[in-house]
This record gives sequence, structure tokens and C-alpha cells, in this order.
Amino acid sequence: MKKITISDLKKKSIRYIKGVGELRESLFKKLGINNIFDLITYYPRDYEDRSSIKNIADLQNGVPCSFEGTIVSNVSVTRPRKGLTLSKVSIEDSTGKITAIWFNQPYVKNSLAIGENYIFFGKADRKLNKLQIVNPVFEKSSLKDMKKSLKILPVYSSTKDLGQNTIRTVVNEAIKGIEDFELEDMIPDAVREIHNLADKTYAIKQIHFPASAQDMERARFRLAFEELFMLQLGLLSYKSLATCTRVGIKYTHIEMESFVKSLPFQLTNAQKKVFMEVEKDMESSHIMNRLVQGDVGSGKTVIAVLALFKAVKCGYQGALMVPTEILAEQHYKSIRSLFDSFGISVQLLSSSLTKKQKQLIVEELKEGKTDVVIGTHALIEDYIQFKQLGLVITDEQHRFGVRQRTILTEKGQNPDVLVMTATPIPRTLALILYGDLDISIIDELPPGRKPIKTYSVNESMRERINKFVRDKVKEGRQIYIVCPLVEESEEIEAKSAVVTADDISKSVFSDLNVGIIHGKMKSSEKEDIMKKFVSGEINILVSTTIIEVGVNVPNATLMIIENAERFGLAQLHQLRGRVGRGDEQSFCILFNQSNSKVSRERMKTMTQSTDGFVISEKDLEIRGPGEFFGTRQHGLPELKIANLYKDMDILKLAQNSAIEIIEADPGLLEHEVLKKYLSMYFGDKVTLS
Ligand code: ADP
Ligand code: MG
Repeated sequence: MKKITISDLKKKSIRYIKGVGELRESLFKKLGINNIFDLITYYPRDYEDRSSIKNIADLQNGVPCSFEGTIVSNVSVTRPRKGLTLSKVSIEDSTGKITAIWFNQPYVKNSLAIGENYIFFGKADRKLNKLQIVNPVFEKSSLKDMKKSLKILPVYSSTKDLGQNTIRTVVNEAIKGIEDFELEDMIPDAVREIHNLADKTYAIKQIHFPASAQDMERARFRLAFEELFMLQLGLLSYKSLATCTRVGIKYTHIEMESFVKSLPFQLTNAQKKVFMEVEKDMESSHIMNRLVQGDVGSGKTVIAVLALFKAVKCGYQGALMVPTEILAEQHYKSIRSLFDSFGISVQLLSSSLTKKQKQLIVEELKEGKTDVVIGTHALIEDYIQFKQLGLVITDEQHRFGVRQRTILTEKGQNPDVLVMTATPIPRTLALILYGDLDISIIDELPPGRKPIKTYSVNESMRERINKFVRDKVKEGRQIYIVCPLVEESEEIEAKSAVVTADDISKSVFSDLNVGIIHGKMKSSEKEDIMKKFVSGEINILVSTTIIEVGVNVPNATLMIIENAERFGLAQLHQLRGRVGRGDEQSFCILFNQSNSKVSRERMKTMTQSTDGFVISEKDLEIRGPGEFFGTRQHGLPELKIANLYKDMDILKLAQNSAIEIIEADPGLLEHEVLKKYLSMYFGDKVTLS
């Protein structure tokens, strides 16, 4: 068989496929499908099992299934009102009778003949012992056709303009096109044999059009294994590169007590424990590569502060990289005030600086006059150089890729690395997802925190909520209103920040000071707004998710989230973490505009728990890890089929195989193909040498 590689398929446009013209090409693009490879790895999200034929008497309410029956009445076509046709027919088998109804499909009349047998597929509905099925699909059941109709059909995530059947046909054509080739397999033969993995071409074909449920399972196992194996391999090779091969700074033990005493609060036990772990890493000759995980508000910043203090007092410089300018500014202010009386100089590298100011900071960093620099990813720019960079910290690490972290560390001589994240994930998963890091967890909130009271409401509560807002303002408190979009979009009817701010400042809250902040504003504008909010000048801040990370204004005690159903639970949890930061009782109001059961369940989770770990577990349970665990947010390649939650067993197998390979062949010198695919998956995030 002729071989074909994934790169070949990536180079091939879907225009090569029969039935795909300019229009369809653009519709597929909207689904993120740009080439043949994207298409054949656009895995089904579900299947319609048409493979087992049921007796009519055994049909269950709402369960999709197939049955075979004889047409025993003429098809009646009626037009109950304009624009609506109803076609109705009775079907029988030896066990019972069912009525089939089609809406606006008058042509079915021509396809069904009385006395003939057909196979139907759909969801039956049993009401008062009467069976009915709406819009079933059907095929004539002669022996020849039987085989064609009895199969498991893929169900894809589709769009309004690109229906299920179109996607099926196009994917089918694409698969026919590669059937006669042997797809290059990156999984080494030895690994494939041990785990009895299906070969790649078979797996791709069977995942889309499985011959049986077993074939589908076998294909899925193979493809999920492949993804997890590659993910593990990438992480492992990065870890061995980052830590084992190089020697790091061995910090001396210094007295920290007077500094700790100067902090405005007492450290919690969890903070003490975590800092001890950090201290131990810093004092060892290994390079520290540690992740600090802690729920929003658990007090991660002070861990960074302590580590920076230690680094500077031992003669090194430190850098703190954060995802937004707002956060950089905020950290700068609080950290500078803590360090002031200890002779540590802190600088903020902000994009709003003039060229001259920037130049000065750059020079002072290079000369070692500045001890600590805080900034966004501007810190990784080439022109930023250090005299003696010994500690690199990234806050809210899920916003940065592995690569960005690496670039920053390369500005020093094997500096220690600390990353902080508030994305709560179960420990077992964290170990795997952050395969390249050691983990510390702050599992305790500072004392005296009152749990945020959360309510899920609908539009009928609007007036009451507006009154509540007013009451809070009268008490001197401030309010966040979070909206999903920046500007009103025709496609998505979600409340935009711009429109909302405009609206409320002209109507209900025209007497209050309403501010707006979103990602499309200039950083000087954002800064200005945040200053006004921090000082209390702005009563109500309308915002996008830009405030999700790190913003700390303890006087804000009420958050209203519009279209809460549009956010992931983890994100809602992050957002909600912006209130409840002081001694006052705080509130979070979720406007849920969806009636779906899933939405209601998700809102319930939010109202019942304030524990990020509980919420993340629930999130997984309700909607699966696809979105929540989107590996992309961790700077890792996307998982298209594997499920980090459900596929824990496969993950372990894949991890073991990956460890064996890396241990035996660290540079993957004997695994050429694997090496090639690894750099393709991880892009430049992983470099094997
Ligand atoms: P996060 O983990 O979300 O980054 P922060 O470090 O921003 O949390 O801390 C949240 C708030 O809690 C800040 O106002 C901080 O000053 C305060 N805080 C942190 N640690 C303690 C503590 N041990 N006791 C009291 N307040 C604390
Ligand atoms: Mg923080």
C-alpha cells in the first residue's frame, strides 16, 4: 500500500473533494476545517445507532432506534395552517402499531407505498398507550438495501448552514480518498503491539463509519491513546529538558521573619506550607519548576512576594509576568508598597509608558539597578535583558503557553520558575496536565471570608435586582456587571458590555457613575477606568471577562453576570472571585437566559458551591472536559477525541508508554517519526535536542 503522511493531508484543500465548492469550503472553514486532515479528524460527537431493529411493541419513549414495519394506511397530507403540511401514516409489525408524522415533508407521500415494508429510524413517543414517531427517516427494506440501512451513523457538531448529511457525505468522500493508502503511524510498532492498538487508517475510517459498536470502540481507543500518548511525550520531554539536564541556582537560607511580620496580615497555614516548599526548591541546586494552585482569593500573590523577596535578598533579580495590564498595575502597587521599606526596587513595564521611560527601565534592569520587574508578556520581548535574573514567576499561568514561560527563563541563567494558577483541577489531573511541574496547593482561604451568596435569576427579577444594586450603592459599595461580548453582534444575542453600559447609564442608573472596561480599549483608557473604580469614583463597572483574572477591589461586593449561561462554570467561578474579597457579605447574581436543563443544573452548581474544586468536578460531569479542560488554555495541543476525565485509564497506559520511551531514548533519536510528529503537535513549544 502506498503511504501517506499527515503533512500531505494538511496540505490538501477540501476543494479536492467531490461536492465541495467555494461556498461549502467557506462553511467548513467556520467549523475550523481547512484541509483534508482537519476533515478526517473532525470526529463525530455522537452516533445514531440504526443497527439493531426493535419490535414496535418494545419502542421506548424518547430513545432513538430502528424498527421495521408495513405501511397499512394511505399517507394523508393535511395543511392545518399556512406554511405547515402534515403527512401521516400508520405502520404495523407483528407486535404493534405506530403512527408516523412528518412536518413539511409532503414528498414522503411519494416514497411510501401501502403494503410495503420499510425500516424507520427515529425517536418514538408513547402517549396514553398510543405510539407516535415524528419525522423518522426511512428506507425500503429489501434484502439488498438492508445492509445499507443497518448501520451506525456519525453525528457531527453542525451549523445551520452545514447540515448533518452534508458533513457525512463530505467526510465519507474524504475517507474514500485515503482508504487505499496507509496513513503514516506515529505510534511505534512496539507500543501498538503491547496495547493491541488498531492501525491508523482503520481507526480513522471506523471512527466515522463504524461497522459495529466494537469497531467504533476499538477505533476510539486507538485515537484517544494516540492523543494522550503524544501529549504525555511532549510534556515529559519538556520536563526532562527543563529540569534534569541543568543545574540551577542554589539560594542560601535567609531570615524572612521581619519581612513576614511587616505584611498586613498573618499567613495562613496553607500559605506557610506552600512557601516552605518553594523555599526548599530555591535552596536546592535543582531548577525550581513549581506550580502553585489555589482557589481565587486563597492568597497566591503573597507566595510570589515572599519568593521575590528571597531572590532579591540573595542577590538576584525577579520577574513577575501577568496576563493583563490591569493586573500588572495592581500587583505593582501592592508589591512596591510591601518592598519599599526593605530597599527593594520594583518597576512596572507597562505599554502606556513613554519611549523614554521604557528605555530607562530597560537600562536599569540590564544594569541590575532594578530588582523586581512586573509586566505583561511585554517582558518576553527581545530588548528586555537582565543582569542577574534568578526567579521567574507567572501569575494565572493558564493564560500563558509553555513557550512564553520558556522565553522568559532564557533571559536568566537557569532561573527558578514559579507559576501560579487559580484554575482548580483535581490533583490527579493536574499531575498529568502539568506533567512538567511540581505542584503546591493552597487549600485554605484567609480567615473571616464570608462565602459569596449566589442567586440564579431570570428576566422577571430585573427590577428587584436593579433595586438591590441601588441599595448597595447607597451603602457605599461598588458593583460589577459582566457581559459576554464587547459589542452587540447580529449572530449572538448576548448582552454586550457597550450596549449595556450605554443603556443603564441613560435609564435606570442615570444618576450613578457607570464605567465600562473591555479588551478593545487602549491600555491608558483601561488604567484610567480602573483607577476610578479603585478610588470609588465609579459606582458600577460594566465589563467583559477582562476582569476575570486577579482584579482586587474589596469594596466591590456585588457582581451581576448577564447571560451567565454563556460562560463555563470555571469561568463563572473566576469572575465571581472578584467579589467577596473583603469583610463585607458579597453577592453574585446570575442572569440565566436559557431554559435548558443543563443550564439550570450548571446555575444550581454555582449557587450551591463556592469551592473551585467542587465546581470544576461538576463542570466535568455536566458538560464533559472538552471545553473546560480545553488543553489549549494550558498552552498545549488541543485534544479532539480523548477525554481527560473519562479516559483516565487510557491516559495511564499512554503515560507509561511515554515514560518508557523517553527513558530509553531521551532525544528520540531512534524514533524519527515520533519526533517529527511531536514537533508538529507542539509546534515550537517542545524542542528536543
Ligand atoms: P489570589 O489567590 O486570588 O491571587 P490574592 O493573593 O489576590 O488571591 O489575595 C486575595 C486577597 O486576600 C487580597 O486582598 C490579599 O491581601 C488577602 N490575603 C491574602 N492572604 C491573606 C491572609 N493570610 N490573611 C488575610 N488576608 C489575606
Ligand atoms: Mg491572583
